[in-house]
Amino acid sequence: MQGGAGRYMELEGRFAEMFADPYVDLAARRDPISRDVDVLIVGGGFSGLLAAANLRRSGIQDFVIVDKAGDFGGTWYWNRYPGVMCDVESYIYLPMIEEIGTIPSKRYAPGHEILEHSRAIGRHFELYPNALFQTQVTSLKWAEDQQRWCVETAQNDVIRARFVILGSGPLNLPRLPDIPGIESYTGHMFHTCRWDYDYTGGSPTTSMDRLADKRVAIVGTGATGVQVVPELAIASKELIVVQRTPSAVGVRDNAPTDMAWFKSLKAGWQRQRMENFDAILAGIPQTENLVGDEWSNIWSPEPVMLEGEDAGAMSLAEVYELTDFRRMERVRQRIDAVVKDPVTAAALKPYYGRFCKRPCFHDEYLEAFNRENVTLVDTGSRGVERITPTGLELAGRQYEVDCIIFATGFELAARADRSGGFTLEGVGGRALSDKWDQEFRSLHGMSTRDFPNLFVIGTFRQSAGTINVPYSFGDQAEHAAETIAILLRLGATRMEVTQAAEDAWTDQCKQKSRRDLAYLRNCTPGSYNGEGNTENLSLLVDPYGGGPLEYAQLIRDWRTNGGMKRDLDLA
Ligand code: NAP
Repeated sequence: MQGGAGRYMELEGRFAEMFADPYVDLAARRDPISRDVDVLIVGGGFSGLLAAANLRRSGIQDFVIVDKAGDFGGTWYWNRYPGVMCDVESYIYLPMIEEIGTIPSKRYAPGHEILEHSRAIGRHFELYPNALFQTQVTSLKWAEDQQRWCVETAQNDVIRARFVILGSGPLNLPRLPDIPGIESYTGHMFHTCRWDYDYTGGSPTTSMDRLADKRVAIVGTGATGVQVVPELAIASKELIVVQRTPSAVGVRDNAPTDMAWFKSLKAGWQRQRMENFDAILAGIPQTENLVGDEWSNIWSPEPVMLEGEDAGAMSLAEVYELTDFRRMERVRQRIDAVVKDPVTAAALKPYYGRFCKRPCFHDEYLEAFNRENVTLVDTGSRGVERITPTGLELAGRQYEVDCIIFATGFELAARADRSGGFTLEGVGGRALSDKWDQEFRSLHGMSTRDFPNLFVIGTFRQSAGTINVPYSFGDQAEHAAETIAILLRLGATRMEVTQAAEDAWTDQCKQKSRRDLAYLRNCTPGSYNGEGNTENLSLLVDPYGGGPLEYAQLIRDWRTNGGMKRDLDLA
């Protein structure tokens, strides 16, 4: 790898300013607060919202939700790029649809609807009075003498919380590649998670009207890039799409919600549909495939055999490899069917295993490359070699552009304190970074010894990983809220995971891990395999190998079958 490939910048100075909140009055100030609460939640995205909703359901009213953003929504608050939508079916992705009464307009919902659904959860559970927005948590320290977390914020608040739930998001730290010359660029540049509509014109729901005379480059062709490219292709005078590795882009097949079908659904349908989807992706036999979209085609472990072939006559490894190849072959065939220029079509074809990168689904992405104003520059895994004052150097050629847009993603599965941008110190001043950088050890991926009264949602590590992220957040949020409710009823002021429980869970996760290092080593460098360094994995390190359904059942059983008594030191 050369140029910026595989290396990302520390976001400082001008590059940190690129990530200021464009949706609020940054000068707005309020008086600092000082108060005691039962629970403090960090983050107002789906994990924080679901935690708060579950606290309300459990009868706990004394809590605050702190978020640096100006509203609820988390990732959907920040990511408002043109074309933004969720490629997981809206009927399973949007949590608590039945309770809130949201009806998604489409099978795959646009981002602004998901943001609005987040706000609706906030209104439904009357969470707005409990929220402190535009408030960056700066530190959390365990105060043993008070048996509380002492939480400080950039607004000079001091909040003493009996319990803390961290939902600061596994994908919220934007990444800018460390490309030589990036600081010398004199044109305009921004990252997709802070879309600059002042520059491009338009909005998430209206077309961009200020790019008609602009030469635009977009760097990155992951899930975000795939959604943005068709919009930029229509709006820009010229569009350069900088590709390091092609994504596998399957059919999306979006459609308006069939209202008759939606209204016919029986109570409890959403949970059933979510579980069915995750069971199919985990290879658990089901009598029907309720969602039945491309996720289950590309991700399902079911073998793909041709007529007359006998999977039983092959080794498991052979069946696996053949299935993998045939699924990716379908993706490659689609490119030939859509993209007219054979050179571009060849460059767009992904040649790697289907679990190497996150699959994407889109019906206009490939078509965009048939437009005359769109050029694909495949950098052959090298990435952008250099940025000059006026453009980019790609595969040895200069491209002059007015604007560079980075669709270069986020730090994957960042530690909760790092992604939240605060320091976190537990018993005796021990930093969470100190403990988890040495070795990730936990009970259920949510609690860890030396950090009493703390619950972490959404680490992926040692907990359930699923592509339908809010589904597993929901189980963890319920678990945290229910456990806290029980502890408050018991009058417990301190709970800490026992050493034995932490050791047992950590060992169990290692034993059950389905991590396949050999497979990942054969992948092109990317975020799933630590940019080609499988010693440096984040997302795929020790998730609970039993899958999300088993994990959800296990934590529910733990609460009701004496787990708390066995695995927690209580005072
Ligand atoms: P991403 O998946 O990390 O993709 C980043 C892109 O930037 C990749 O194409 C990467 O190339 C490229 N890149 C990195 N450094 C580069 C360099 N120096 N030169 C050229 N290219 C470079 O980020 P993302 O697309 O924002 O997606 C992040 C995550 O957000 C996804 O995994 C997904 O979970 C989530 N997401 C979900 C949806 C949805 O619909 N549910 C939509 C958008 C995002 P390589 O491919 O070679 O690594």
